[in-house]
Amino acid sequence: MFQRQIEIPTFEEIRAEQPVKRELAAIKQERDELAKDVIAGRSDKLLLIIGPCSAHESAPVLEYVKRLSKLNEKVKDKLVIVPRVYTAKPRTRGVGYKGMFSQPDPEHKEDTLKGIRMIRSLLLNVIEESGLSAADEMLYPENYAYVEDLLTYVAVGARSSENQMHRLVSSGIELPVGIKNSTGGSIPVLINSIFAAQSAQVFKYHNYQVQTDGNPYAHAVLRGRVDNYGNDIPNYHYETVMQVIEGYQNAEGGLKNPAVIIDANHSNSGKRFRQQIRIVEEVMQNRSYDADFKKIVKGFMIESFLVEGCQKHDVVFGQSITDPCLGWEDTERLVLEIADKA
Ligand code: PEP
Ligand code: MN
Repeated sequence: MFQRQIEIPTFEEIRAEQPVKRELAAIKQERDELAKDVIAGRSDKLLLIIGPCSAHESAPVLEYVKRLSKLNEKVKDKLVIVPRVYTAKPRTRGVGYKGMFSQPDPEHKEDTLKGIRMIRSLLLNVIEESGLSAADEMLYPENYAYVEDLLTYVAVGARSSENQMHRLVSSGIELPVGIKNSTGGSIPVLINSIFAAQSAQVFKYHNYQVQTDGNPYAHAVLRGRVDNYGNDIPNYHYETVMQVIEGYQNAEGGLKNPAVIIDANHSNSGKRFRQQIRIVEEVMQNRSYDADFKKIVKGFMIESFLVEGCQKHDVVFGQSITDPCLGWEDTERLVLEIADKA
C-alpha cells in the first residue's frame, strides 16, 4: 500500500519555478570545466570535494561556503574546490534523518515538496554567495533532474554503486561522477560500475526511453570498507590504491580517464574525523613518492563543517547531525597544506 500524501510537481515545473540566472549558470559551467579537466588529466590541479556530511540547515552551509570561497582565492592555482552540499542521506539501517530533500527541518516530519524547493534555493544561493557550485550524492536517480542544472560533481554512494539505475543515469551525466566502492570494498564491482557509467546506454527515464553517450568522467572514490565482522578497513593505503590502478589498467573493454579520489572519512577514518588530516597527509606523501600513483590520485573528499564533531540534534550552529566532521580551523590549515604540497 502506498498512501498518497503530497503531489510533487515534475522537475520541469520546479525548475521553471526556481530558474537559474544566466550569471550563475555561467559560473557553474566554468566550475564544471575545471572539475572535468582534473579528472581527464588536462589539468594538474587536485579536486577537493569538501563540506559537511549533510546539509541539514541552509544558514550554516552558506556561512561555510563563504569561508570556503575566501580560502579558494588563496589556493585556486592548485586546487579545484567543490563544496559538499549533500541533501539526501542514505542510512545504513534505512531509518533516521534522510536529508533536507525529505526533511527540510530535521526536527519535523517529511515534507518532500518543501524539501525540493529548499534544496534548489540553497544550491542557487551557494553559487551566488561563493562563486562555487556544489557536489551532492545522487541517492535517488530520478530526483537528480531537480538539481542537475546546479551541481558540478555527483557522487554515487557506497550503498548504491552496484545499482543498475544509478549506473545508467550516471552514463548520461556530463559531469564528474564519483562512484564509491561498495561497503564490502570489492574492486571488481567498482570497476564494473565505472565501466557501466562510461558506456552508452538506452533505458527508461522520466517517461521516455532515452539514449546516453556514456560518461568519460565517471571515476573511483575509495571510502574504505566494512569487513564481515563490522570493522572498518581502510583502502587509501599505497598497496590498495595500486590494486585499483591495476583494475583500471586490466578492465575488459578499457576505461577512460583513470582517476581515484580518496574519501578521507567514512570507513577510511573509521569516522574518527581528525584522522582525515593524517590520511590526506599520507596520500600526499605517496603522490610525491610514485609518479603512477600521483597521476591517478586526483583529489580528496573531506567531511568538514564550521564546528568539529557531530551532534544528535540541531543545537550547535554549523555542527553535523550525521557523520562527524573536521572543524573550520583544521579545515583551513589542511586545505592550505594540500595546496602547498600539490
Ligand atoms: C557520505 O559521503 O556522506 C556517505 C554517506 O558516503 P558513503 O556512501 O561512502 O557511506
Ligand atoms: Mn558522511
